[in-house]
Amino acid sequence: MTKAHLFLAAALMAAPTLATAQAAKSTVPKISPAARAVHDAAIVLDTHFDTPALFSRPGWDFADRHAVTKDGSQVDLPRMVDGGVDGGFFAIYTAQGPRTKAGDDAARAAALVRAVEIHEMLVKHADKIEIALTADDAARIVAKGKRFAYLSMENAYPLAGDPGMLDAFYALGVRMVGFAHFKDNDFADSATDKPEWGGLSPKGKALLDEMNRLGVIPDPSHSSDAVLAQVIEQSKTPVVLSHSGVRAVFDHPRNVPDDLLKKLAEKGGVIQINAFSSYMLPPPPPNAERDKAMAALMAKFGARNKMTEDQVVQLMAERRALLAQYPMPRANLEDLMAHLLYALKLVGPDHVGLSGDFDGGGGVDGYDSVADLPIVTERLLKAGYSKDDIAKIWGGNVLRVLRETEAYVASHKGG
Ligand SMILES: [Zn+2]
Repeated sequence: MTKAHLFLAAALMAAPTLATAQAAKSTVPKISPAARAVHDAAIVLDTHFDTPALFSRPGWDFADRHAVTKDGSQVDLPRMVDGGVDGGFFAIYTAQGPRTKAGDDAARAAALVRAVEIHEMLVKHADKIEIALTADDAARIVAKGKRFAYLSMENAYPLAGDPGMLDAFYALGVRMVGFAHFKDNDFADSATDKPEWGGLSPKGKALLDEMNRLGVIPDPSHSSDAVLAQVIEQSKTPVVLSHSGVRAVFDHPRNVPDDLLKKLAEKGGVIQINAFSSYMLPPPPPNAERDKAMAALMAKFGARNKMTEDQVVQLMAERRALLAQYPMPRANLEDLMAHLLYALKLVGPDHVGLSGDFDGGGGVDGYDSVADLPIVTERLLKAGYSKDDIAKIWGGNVLRVLRETEAYVASHKGG
């Protein structure tokens, strides 16, 4: 698929169906008090929030309550509280653009602006949320009654012009970096593009060394199988797939085959199962009329981060009307559980977690905002997983990887 097709598919799949739109009033999920207690006892995090893309939207504030059914957004502070979500990795996402000096410079500038926007949000709401830089910070911040925010980078494109910039982004708080996005880049092959390097490029290998040296978790989500295999093999610290699925459950290049999941786990890594409909269901049958109408709707409103909140609400309403006219299949909680339980059976509860890919096209029916996470805790209890397993799945595993990453850096300082 071309990039335009991928984005259109994501736009089509991301919208909730009318049924969920009408059902989702209260965002505290109705689960048993026992399951809620297990959930609340865990440090709960999601490894891929695309929400920073909304921080520059006029009138949109992370501390206000929003509704996925109104403005499409899936993460904010009130809903983190509803969902017992203690924190997450806030992504600096950059779409892959031209691999030229001008393109590299623009990507670097955009990523720096996004990092600053995250910091502005953290300053504005310092009484409610705080930056986390080390694994221990999560528990320390939670003990103060606040949420924590790690920073991550989705697509290393902003580093292409100057990989030494990883130092600067590390200083800004970035602790996890994904190599590529929908397209191959100067570092690595994408899962959704024709292989160019056969895995990591020489520059990609150097970037991985630099991540290990600084203490940044390598994230091969969106990268090709060859990249994942090479990163697992070459990284000195465990690897996290920040938002990926299981290919044995649904055959899609963004999902990971069993042999690589086993290798990931053998080296201490973790797969964070994502909730992205297009990677869980076959694409809808082509419908030129629908695609034309959807493209016209998107063109009418323009770039989403430039729209006012009212315009976004209007766009979402028009999109729902369009999807009522052209019903689209959307994955649901059962699909998510199928990926999650399969991965848990294959590699065990020390190597699996979750990420909804919220505000980045993620969300499925029944798991459509950060408020919905406790529902999975109840499902995991019913599937026989213990309180300790669930605590590892929700955050313990990723924090363990970060702790091991810090230990590696500490043991190699000066040497
Ligand atoms: Zn992504």
